[in-house]
Amino acid sequence: MSKIYDLHAHSTVSDGTLSPTELVQRAASQGVDVLALTDHDATHGVHEAQIAAKSCGIQLISGVEISVSWRRQTIHIVGLNVDVENAALCEGLDKIRVLRIERAKRIAQKLEKNGVENAWEACVEMAGCESITRTHFARLIIERGVAPDMKTVFKKWLGRKGKAFVSGEWAELDEAIGWIRAAGGQAIIAHPARYEFTRTKLIELIKDFKAAGGVGLEVITSSHNIAERAAMSIICRDNELLASVGSDFHTPGNPRIELGKHLHMVRDCTPIWDQWPESTQNDVSRIAG
Ligand code: AMP
Ligand code: MN
Ligand code: MN
Ligand code: MN
Repeated sequence: MSKIYDLHAHSTVSDGTLSPTELVQRAASQGVDVLALTDHDATHGVHEAQIAAKSCGIQLISGVEISVSWRRQTIHIVGLNVDVENAALCEGLDKIRVLRIERAKRIAQKLEKNGVENAWEACVEMAGCESITRTHFARLIIERGVAPDMKTVFKKWLGRKGKAFVSGEWAELDEAIGWIRAAGGQAIIAHPARYEFTRTKLIELIKDFKAAGGVGLEVITSSHNIAERAAMSIICRDNELLASVGSDFHTPGNPRIELGKHLHMVRDCTPIWDQWPESTQNDVSRIAG
C-alpha cells in the first residue's frame, strides 16, 4: 500500500479553524500518513504539530505557504521541510506578517466605511493568531450577517472587485524561494491553476521560479478540477518539476476539501517526496492513479 500524502494544510496559526494538534489528529483519523502544516507566512504551529504527529504515529513535514508578488499579482509558494529556526526564513516571514497587519487595518477601514462596525477590533479578537488573512474578515462578515457565505463575501467584499479589497504587497519571488532554500526546504508553486494565467504566462512564472531554485508544482489540490489536474500534470512533467499533492484544508465541514481525500490522481510525474529520506518516502517512485 502506498502512503497517503497531504502536503498543504492550515491551522489556527493562520486561517485554519483547527489547532495544530487537532489538525494532526484529524489527518491521522482520515488515514493520512504524511502531513505538511503550511500556514500562511508563519511556522509557529510546526513544533506543536510535530509533537501531536509523534503521538498519532504519522509523519509531520514542517512547511509554510508564502505570499509572493510576481508581476503585481499575488501567488503562493509552499515551502516543505523547512528549518523553522532558520534566521533568513524567520526574518522574511516576520516582515510579511507586518505587511499583513498593515493591509488588514486598511481592509478594516474600508469595511467600517461600508457599515461593518468595529471591524478591526472584532477581527483581531476573532483571529487571535500570528497571521491575519482575508479569511478572518470573511468569517466576521458572515457572522455579522452582512453576507451569507464565503463565495459571496469574496465576490462582493474581499475579492479583487469587492468593496473592501486591498491588494497585498508581498515578498519577491526569488526572495521567498531564497528563504525556503536557506532553510533547507523545497519550494513549490501552490495551486497554479487558481491564478487564471494564460499558459504562456504560467510558463514564464515557472521559468522565473526555476531560475530562483524552485523545484515543484502543486498538481493535485482542492482548487483544481479534473481538467486542471491533467493540464498541470503535463506542465509539471514537461518542465521537469516535481509534483506536489495537498488538500489546502482550512476547516471541517466541506466534504470536497478534506485532509487526505481526493489527492491521488497524477500520472507520469515524479513526486516531490521522491528524494526524501526513508522516513518520509513512499514505497513507489512515481505517483500512480
Ligand atoms: P490573504 O492571503 O489574506 O489574501 O487571504 C487569502 C485566503 O483567503 C486564501 O488562503 C483562502 O483561504 C481565502 N480565500 C481566497 N479567496 C477565496 C474564496 N473565493 N473563497 C473562500 N476563501 C477564499
Ligand atoms: Mn487560506
Ligand atoms: Mn494559497
Ligand atoms: Mn493554502
